[in-house]
Amino acid sequence: MQRATKIVATLGPASSTPERLAELVAAGVDVVRLNFSHGTAADHRQRVEVLRAVAHRAGRTVGVMADLQGPKIRIGKFSAGPVTLKAGQHFILDATCTLGDATRVGLDYPELVEDVAAGDVLLLDDGRTVFDVERIEGSEIHCRNRHDGELSNNKGINKQGGGLSAPALTPKDMADILTAAALNVDFVAVSFPKSGADMRQARQLLHEAGSDALVIAKIERVEAVANLEDILHATDGVMVARGDLAVEVGDAAVPALQKRIIREAREHNRFVITATQMMESMIASPVPTRAEVSDVANAVLDGTDAVMLSAETASGAYPVAAVEAMVRVCVEAEKSHEIKLDTHFLDLTFGRIDQSIAMAALFTAVHLKVKAIAALTESGSTTLWMSRLNSGVPIYALTPRVRTRYRVSIFRDVYPLLTEYIALDRDELLWQAEETLIAAGVVEAGDLIAMTIGEPIGNAGGTNTLKLVKVGEHRQPKS
Ligand code: PEP
Repeated sequence: MQRATKIVATLGPASSTPERLAELVAAGVDVVRLNFSHGTAADHRQRVEVLRAVAHRAGRTVGVMADLQGPKIRIGKFSAGPVTLKAGQHFILDATCTLGDATRVGLDYPELVEDVAAGDVLLLDDGRTVFDVERIEGSEIHCRNRHDGELSNNKGINKQGGGLSAPALTPKDMADILTAAALNVDFVAVSFPKSGADMRQARQLLHEAGSDALVIAKIERVEAVANLEDILHATDGVMVARGDLAVEVGDAAVPALQKRIIREAREHNRFVITATQMMESMIASPVPTRAEVSDVANAVLDGTDAVMLSAETASGAYPVAAVEAMVRVCVEAEKSHEIKLDTHFLDLTFGRIDQSIAMAALFTAVHLKVKAIAALTESGSTTLWMSRLNSGVPIYALTPRVRTRYRVSIFRDVYPLLTEYIALDRDELLWQAEETLIAAGVVEAGDLIAMTIGEPIGNAGGTNTLKLVKVGEHRQPKS
């Protein structure tokens, strides 16, 4: 059964061998994520090379995403391993400390001292350790620890409610953008952006490095939620990065935010990925919990384009089972999704001919209950617009551009098919498209399909024609 929702899997030590990558691709991974918070440029290159080889052998289109580390603020190291903290204990975050002990630890971002004040709450290690800031003394942040626990080297720090001044793109991110461009990745995710300007800067740096990768804004800061509209204008896609987002806004606020971010992204013609802890227990267990199954299914029902696996596939014990479980849950959730064409687009006005044709094709496809939409597309934009509305009609992106085939791999309801535009004659081209769909096993003689095409052939942004075709009734090409 065809799956409309796409699966993003993070690569790591548990998913780097050719055998394991082949299993992950066979299980249904649509996009792999290289997490630049871990590993070297050589590790990422090796994984991309192996992935491309196994995907090619399997005849699958698997996109590649580089996820930049961003300004994740971290404590330093301890001289003698993890320290035990008692509830109510006093502890110092000290920008000048090189090796920590049971009373203090260093910081990799000395400016944190200027960003916090007495009364603030700092969350370390994804909120497992909570510090109430009592006072600032020079380079020292004096805190009171809330719960018994343990603190180990390099744990991340978030400030509840946001307000950290660190810029979204660090010098490491700028170097990693060069690596991502050299690896010819399809997507680059920017961590902790606060505004559209951060996304424009990332796109500019990619452009200067010779990359036209699509950019993804990870929504994980309070400021990003406040500036969502501005970010949506500047980005191609967003990620609901629930790990850091939950720490900044409070975990209970995340489910409603997830729904809002997905809805607004789709309304702005952006794609959206729901991420973090979706199958968390499968790091150590071969089966997901009931709560995880519901979480993945609810993201599908919310309208996400893709669901993402992090440690489950990067370092977990059951990476392939985690993908298989996600596939199972997505397919079942899609079956139960009430298909009702969103009609808000009827009130929109389109200045662009290609966008108007895309909407006309979708409307017609739903009303005539066509088997498939085939978009002959250069840039993939027509398939993005069509897939922003919940129609239940599969959309096939027929494209001669390899880049476009990878880009559309993340759009919900869109299936890439590589084709050659060898004919410049329109009828011959449509016949070729039919042949491609038949060969892929997605339509058969007698099926009604809606096709969009741009004439003259081969111009990106040139879609200007909608044609309804009964498969097999088209004339044969001239010999
Ligand atoms: C997140 O915080 O949810 C996230 C996806 O980012 P990372 O895994 O890079 O921390």
